[in-house]
Amino acid sequence: MLASGSPHKLVEFRRLFLGSPVRILPATEVASPPKVAETGATFLQNARLKAVVYALACRAWCLADDSGLAVDALGGAPGVRSARYAGPDASDHARNAKLLAALADVPDARRSARFRCAVALATPDGSVVYTAIRSCEGRIAPAPRGGQGFGYDPLFIVGTGDRTMAELTPDEKNRVSHRGKAARAARHFLEERLATPPSN
Ligand code: IMP
Repeated sequence: MLASGSPHKLVEFRRLFLGSPVRILPATEVASPPKVAETGATFLQNARLKAVVYALACRAWCLADDSGLAVDALGGAPGVRSARYAGPDASDHARNAKLLAALADVPDARRSARFRCAVALATPDGSVVYTAIRSCEGRIAPAPRGGQGFGYDPLFIVGTGDRTMAELTPDEKNRVSHRGKAARAARHFLEERLATPPSN
């Protein structure tokens, strides 16, 4: 079960588990998905929190993702507050506009940034049995470009190239993204675990 209400994350995770004996189920399969206050100070703390709360509510194996964008010129902001950067109900457009305004006087050479993704996997009794953190380096573009992806993707130029994350196809994004790397690590753990049943 994916411990997230984000339809974008669901699409990405499902694609990342294609061909695996592990199936990713949406949290919408739960009658009343739990509300989790993301009170952690780090992506990892929040991912653990979401995995445990969902696992206990669903009595199922739950995979949680907490992710966001860290911009060096802003001291790592928006960071764990990426989803709430422009207020609790703001749109992607509003968050991107706020980020561009904050970087208005910052030259290209100082616009380095990274996406980070922490994943946590909890068993039905709420024990966290696996965590991983992965990132994707890049820099913030002067203006949004591209129509794929979600969130800050149109502003994030991947690596040292010239395409934003929103200009990549879904498979291209999954190959290089923070979430792609973290999901592959979790997939590897789960498939090993399935192949090696507990001895007792
Ligand atoms: P979360 O649900 O607390 O993990 O919020 C993650 C927020 O970080 C999202 O709302 C996006 O604004 C941003 N974010 C995380 N991953 C991505 C991504 O792959 N592309 C663009 N924005 C992302």
